[in-house]
Amino acid sequence: MRYSVAMTGEVEAAMRDHLIREDGQEDVLAATYVLSTGVERTTALIKSVVFPGEGERLVHGNASFTSGYVLRASNEARAAGHGLALLHSHPGSRGWQLLSDMDWETESEYERVARGITKMPLLGMTLGGRDTSWSARFWFDRSAPTWAESVRSVSPKLAVTWNNEIRRIPSITRSQQRTVSSWGERTQSSIARLRVLVVGGGSVGLDVAQRLAATGLATVGVMDYDAVETVNLDRMIGATRLDAALGRSKVKVASRLMKSAATAESFEIHNHEVSITDPVGVSAALDYDVIFSCVDRPWPRAVLNALAYTDLIPVIDGGIALDTFPDGRMRNGIWRAHTLVPGRPCMACLGQLVIGDIPLDKQGLLDDPEYIAGAHREAPSRQNVAALSASVSAALLAQFVSLTAHPGGRGVPAPLRHVLSTHTLEHSVATSGPYCAYENATTAGDTRTPIAEHREDWRAIVYERATKKSPFRLRALAAAEDILQRAISRLK
Ligand SMILES: [Zn+2]
Repeated sequence: MRYSVAMTGEVEAAMRDHLIREDGQEDVLAATYVLSTGVERTTALIKSVVFPGEGERLVHGNASFTSGYVLRASNEARAAGHGLALLHSHPGSRGWQLLSDMDWETESEYERVARGITKMPLLGMTLGGRDTSWSARFWFDRSAPTWAESVRSVSPKLAVTWNNEIRRIPSITRSQQRTVSSWGERTQSSIARLRVLVVGGGSVGLDVAQRLAATGLATVGVMDYDAVETVNLDRMIGATRLDAALGRSKVKVASRLMKSAATAESFEIHNHEVSITDPVGVSAALDYDVIFSCVDRPWPRAVLNALAYTDLIPVIDGGIALDTFPDGRMRNGIWRAHTLVPGRPCMACLGQLVIGDIPLDKQGLLDDPEYIAGAHREAPSRQNVAALSASVSAALLAQFVSLTAHPGGRGVPAPLRHVLSTHTLEHSVATSGPYCAYENATTAGDTRTPIAEHREDWRAIVYERATKKSPFRLRALAAAEDILQRAISRLK
């Protein structure tokens, strides 16, 4: 299991303002956290800050907690069902901080208090004052801490402090030189270590996945349970007639194309032939740092919309809608891109997710012509234009760059809408709804209201594909293709 910590930009700012003092002294602070448990990673989400009261901590050279403060914070954590975090600052230091002997002693001493009261491990965190870098460790027992791999502050700007011992700084390869010259080695080394998941391996997802691989990311996952069909070939650039004839999974096709585009020294692909609307899909998604939503149906988008807030994983979403005149000529096209993070409105508040459509999608009614006619709805538009699908992936990738590289010191913009007929770019004025159920569930972690369900339908599709035998001619072509690709990938 890997470990990490995430917090909203707002919580991070509150903790930073307290821990970095004008007099340059060290300070201490308590906070509470909840867990967000994935398959391979457990994340502590900082829930609330417990500021010290009068006389509850000593600030002189090495700042220290009084046991009264730790007890009060532990009891507050327990009352809320949270764990306890103890934080302190190293004002003159930069980068991931290790523990001094004294820090070790303090944390291992309070480990028992925290676990005894909250029944959860103590979380220790340090802030390096010179570059506001965070570091974190979990105390599962008294003897030694288990270090986290990263600490993420999530707001329109994603800021990550990496533990270089656990997630090594990737070396810059020759094919990455142009990319690195645009944002510097520091940004490259942070972006390259992000674990990014692309949900939906269609035209947009396939394009996004390949460009992430080309950017030098070391780990990219793709989630889709569907296969490539001939009708997809106009937009899934790189997918072949053989892929469609074999009925290859979109994930496998993405994986092949990513391998050939990847510039990282060692590139890790995670194939998830599952549905994000199923608990297995959600657990897999919780292992990632950023998610691209390249799906167009209401239910999967609702699941991702929720995860962005409950588990502090930025979700980059968008899509395209085309409009025709009654005689079939093109009227307009609109594509959108927005990033769901605390501080930016969710898809529902943006009007990009109709809550009432989620149960209809679950019941399969959105594909049922009888229902659609009876409800006087328009059939879901399946139109798309090959020449425009890259516009959507480009818009999503630009959001990713703003989120992670902060061009001009800025993070992701307000939600964007590109109008094709006039070529205008509009910034949405939509704001978060004060009563938005999604945003009010921010940092719920494992106590999130489940909207994913165990279903057999997508499992049957994956099973059928895995057990289907293709004609000999196609299998022979696939084998030849495989040999050729292996040979090419060995070229330096
Ligand atoms: Zn909302």
